[in-house]
Amino acid sequence: MIVVRTVSELRAALSDRRGGAIGLVPTMGALHEGHATLLRASRAQDDTVVMTIFVNPAQFDEQSDLAAYPRTEDADLALAEREGVDIVLAPDAAEVYPPGFATTVSVTGPIAETLEGAERGRGHFDGVATVVTKLLLAALPDRAYFGAKDAQQVAVIRRLVADLAIPVALVICPTSRDADGLARSSRNTRLSPEERTRARAIPHALQNVTDAAAAGISDPEALRARAVAVLEASGIRPEYVALVDPVTFAPVARVDGPVLVAIAARVGSTRLIDNTVLGGA
Ligand code: AMP
Repeated sequence: MIVVRTVSELRAALSDRRGGAIGLVPTMGALHEGHATLLRASRAQDDTVVMTIFVNPAQFDEQSDLAAYPRTEDADLALAEREGVDIVLAPDAAEVYPPGFATTVSVTGPIAETLEGAERGRGHFDGVATVVTKLLLAALPDRAYFGAKDAQQVAVIRRLVADLAIPVALVICPTSRDADGLARSSRNTRLSPEERTRARAIPHALQNVTDAAAAGISDPEALRARAVAVLEASGIRPEYVALVDPVTFAPVARVDGPVLVAIAARVGSTRLIDNTVLGGA
């Protein structure tokens, strides 16, 4: 495994590997089993696996969140090596945003402006879209891997890849969960033991909605209220519980096709997100 710090070093490392398939797994580091599932998916079908580690300042709306974001590069490189990664690009902020940098890739409309876009501000998905575009252009992979846990991020990336005709296949990997159902996240390490227990209410709320929809409840407001009740019973007041179209992120009037149920909530000071899709999409 080689570790490079610049886009030109990455391109040089990839120059004699273009005959085979290249997979790209973008991350912000603090790697866990959820990231490992993406790396394994790439390892299973690509000749070269490229992983990036970059805590992207542009997508953080809160400086305190950026400052507190875990940085564990040595452990990340060890995990990458175990999972068979070939090349790691771990640039610093000046490499990604050199002096004079003035370009923003901005996806507009509900997929970027509602839910996470509304809570975290316009800049969040602009930051995501810009850095992902830059990483895709740096590596020019055949496939790029993203997690379904960040459903709105997936929708934004699908949109920009289609709109800019970037020649890459997107592979979306299912959310990897701990044994008690909590979605794995780099932020989970910030939860106290008591908060960690309460956080289980998030997957419980999603399961409750899934069961209720399977039992025939199709009114989104009734389903939403069930999720909120489960969360509140554990002392969690959600930032949002939303039932939306998984592609457009428009609210749904009835649950009769695929519907994304998305939750964002703070448990203590840690902000967690999770989602599930009703209707088997
Ligand atoms: P991050 O380092 O949080 O930016 O995540 C890097 C990639 O890993 C993103 O595509 C995430 O959606 C994905 N990811 C993070 N957590 C999980 C998880 N629990 N299950 C599946 N994918 C995940």
